Amino acid sequence: MKPDPDRAVAKQTGPTGSPLLVVGSLALDTIETQSSRREEVLGGAACYASFAASFFAPVRLVGVVGSDFPADHEALLSSRHIDLAGLERVSGRTFRWAGRYAVDFNKRTTLDTQLNVFETFRPKLPPAYADSPFVFLANIDPVLQLEVLGQVRRPRFVACDTMNFWIGGKRAELLRVLERANMVLLNDEEARQLSSKDNLPAAASAIRGMGPGAVVIKRGDAGALFFCEDGVFAVPAFPLEGVVDPTGAGDSFAGGCMGWLARTGDISPVGIRTALVVGSALASFCVEDFSLDRFRSLDETAIRARCAAFAQLVRFEAVSF
Ligand code: AMP
Repeated sequence: MKPDPDRAVAKQTGPTGSPLLVVGSLALDTIETQSSRREEVLGGAACYASFAASFFAPVRLVGVVGSDFPADHEALLSSRHIDLAGLERVSGRTFRWAGRYAVDFNKRTTLDTQLNVFETFRPKLPPAYADSPFVFLANIDPVLQLEVLGQVRRPRFVACDTMNFWIGGKRAELLRVLERANMVLLNDEEARQLSSKDNLPAAASAIRGMGPGAVVIKRGDAGALFFCEDGVFAVPAFPLEGVVDPTGAGDSFAGGCMGWLARTGDISPVGIRTALVVGSALASFCVEDFSLDRFRSLDETAIRARCAAFAQLVRFEAVSF
């Protein structure tokens, strides 16, 4: 029987699905919204993705932190049964990023990016990770994404994220990643930049032609569009009154989605649709507080209830006249 998002969420003992390998940034973020500011809080694409996925599948995290990375942050990740054998700790400063949000949260200005220990990072996977069936390459230099793929034997499903910086600066390397990816997730501006097409369905077709059969175009609080050989599927973002900090929403979306795919093993278009709704549910929790703070108190009851609210959100009677 197929797991149901309303029922099957990992217990405290750790989830039972296939392992999901996640590579990407672990960061200390400084966030400014119109009403608040948080300095050097836990962030990074791989942190958000791993934490969101950990509710559904065993996660193997590959990344790097500096000697200033607080032990509490590692303990938090471990408390979710995230395997940290692939986390390198090196002397130096952890990756740092700072951003400021406009009043409606849809526009973000990057104030600072310090690569620090990421400048010299070369991912080395523990031998046991080579058999990872599910892989999520979070936003990171495509050269490093390729190095990770080079160390995994015949993964069943590879998804990747990217950003404008790499589309512009490392296009050839990014295209090599896309050739080997089953699914790519990117926002609307990035899709237009990558494809040189303004229209999103046309952009998705062009990107599918680069390799990934599945293309997910994220549109902030307008949700996401999923394009594959079956056509197009729209997943909403959950309408919330109390958005606090959207940082990491895209990574939590991807992590929740990949965690669900690893749990069910169903990588059909229908299976991916359900996974995207689960991802959107995780993203909706992420934005309710700064950093990963909302995830700390998140439990399966709340995830089930939000997935049920999604079903209600899009339910309508067939139109006949
Ligand atoms: P999102 O809000 O989903 O776009 O992701 C925000 C997270 O991405 C933050 O926690 C940052 O630490 C991280 N981030 C920002 N810029 C980069 C970058 N150039 N490379 C890797 N991670 C980044």
